[in-house]
Parts: sequence; structure tokens; C-alpha cells
Amino acid sequence: MHFHKAEHAFFVFIFVIVAAGMVTLHAHGVVETATAQIGDGAALDSVAYIGTLLFAIGVLLATAFFFGVFFIYPLIRDQVREEGKLRAMTATLSARSETLEQAALTDALTGMQNRRFFDDALREYIAEFHRIGKPVGLMILDLDHFKSVNDTHGHDIGDEVLRSVAGCLKGMTRYHDVVARLGGEEFGIVTPNMDAELLTRFAERIRKGVANLAIVNGNVRLKVTTSVGLAVWDHSETAEAFYRRADKQLYEAKRQGRNRVCA
Ligand code: GH3
Ligand code: MG
Ligand code: MG
Repeated sequence: MHFHKAEHAFFVFIFVIVAAGMVTLHAHGVVETATAQIGDGAALDSVAYIGTLLFAIGVLLATAFFFGVFFIYPLIRDQVREEGKLRAMTATLSARSETLEQAALTDALTGMQNRRFFDDALREYIAEFHRIGKPVGLMILDLDHFKSVNDTHGHDIGDEVLRSVAGCLKGMTRYHDVVARLGGEEFGIVTPNMDAELLTRFAERIRKGVANLAIVNGNVRLKVTTSVGLAVWDHSETAEAFYRRADKQLYEAKRQGRNRVCA
């Protein structure tokens, strides 16, 4: 059994009362003996009076003992139990809110970060890289003719393709890149420390990586391609404007015939 600090203090208190009771009892015994040995009348009265006082002290100590054990201690015990319950509840709540926060920032289908996380991260990277004067790249990808993948092979296979592309993107990016599913069949990557040239080469590698994926459905090997829009932060525009610029390039890649990178 685990005792609370207040309980330990209470046990010390009870121990002191019991010790005081025993000393009183002993003193009472000594006085009794003395009473038997003293012959003189006045001295006998005084010693007998001390005996009565010691008895009264004994009664008071016994009362304090029973009051403490049967009244104060249950109150302490209740309070300790309530405090324990509250602490457990707080722990559960904070664990749950952590899980919720995690869930709120994660895409359920692919397990990668979601749009909300991506938007926050983009804003944070911009603020940080403005300070240190380094480039930030942004890549937006949208799978080509994905509707027809669903229409031809079914929604579940469509989901499988999305998971597979997510795995490919995660595998091809660096630790400090932010990779997220922005919604539907659209993905975004923030690439800190990449200028236009590096970003274009990186995007080409990723485009080829996706094109080389093969999702096996029975005896059919399914292929997908992706269009990619790029932008490098101009060190003055907002995150929203930066995103719109990359999105425009994605639109351009679609317009030019898909499965290509536009910057
Ligand atoms: P485009 O090359 O112009 O991008 O054509 P698209 O067919 O990829 O674009 P469109 O916007 O017409 O279709 C997107 C499709 O993505 C439609 C929708 O059924 C599918 N989609 C969106 N979210 C999911 C998902 O979570 N799972 C699956 N399986 N499909 C999804
Ligand atoms: Mg789309
Ligand atoms: Mg698409």
C-alpha cells in the first residue's frame, strides 16, 4: 500500500500521542506507588491530585487518539483517494489530447502528415529561412487521371495506389523535408535549402520514381504518373502566395500534357 505525505505526517502525530500516553501511564504508576509509601496527610493529597491530573491527561490523549484514528484519518484517506483519481484523470486526458493532436495532423489513409500540418510547417520554414537567408523549395504533385484508376480498378485499389505513392515520396525525401498528403490525390513537399536548380532535379527524380511504381492488382501491373508544380520562395511573399505560385505551375504541367515538372 502506498501512503501519501499527509498520511505519513498523521502516523507521526499518532505515534507521538501514543508515546505521550505511555509516558503518562508510567507517571501515573509512579504516583500510585508514591501514594502508598507516603504517610503524611498534606503531601498525600498533593500526590493524589497529581495522580488525578495524570489520569485526566491520559483520558485527553486517548480521546485525541480515537478522534484522530476514526475521524481525521478517514478524511485524509478520502482526500488522498480523490487526489489520486484526479491525477489519473489528468494523465488520461493529456494522453488523449496528444493522440488527438497527432490524429489531427496525420492523414488516416497514408499515415503521412496532412494539409493542416503542411500549412503550418510551410509558414514556419518560411519564417525560419527568412531569418537565415537560405532558400525554401515547394513542390506540389497531383496524380494524373486518377479518377480513371478508381473507375477502372475500384476505389480500394485507388487507395492502394495512394499509399504506394506516399511510401515512395517518404522514401525519396530527406529527413527535414516536409511531405504531406494535401487531399485527394494531391501531395506537397517543402524542401528547405534547395534552390531552383536542385529543386528541379529533385522533382524530376520524384516524378520518375512515381512513374516507376507498379501496383499489382491480381495479374495487372498498374502504373501511375504525376504532374509536379515547383516554386522557390522569393523571400517576401506569404506562404499562401508561395503556394499559389507552385499550384499555378502544377496547372501548367497538367495543361502541357501531364507527367512532367513545371517551374
Ligand atoms: P488530372 O490528371 O487532371 O489530375 O485528373 P484526375 O482524374 O486525377 O483528377 P480529378 O480531380 O478529376 O479526380 C481526382 C480523383 O481522385 C477523383 C476521386 O475519386 C479520387 N480520389 C480522391 N481522394 C481519394 C481517395 O482517398 N481514395 C481514392 N481511391 N480516390 C480518391
Ligand atoms: Mg487533384
Ligand atoms: Mg489528379
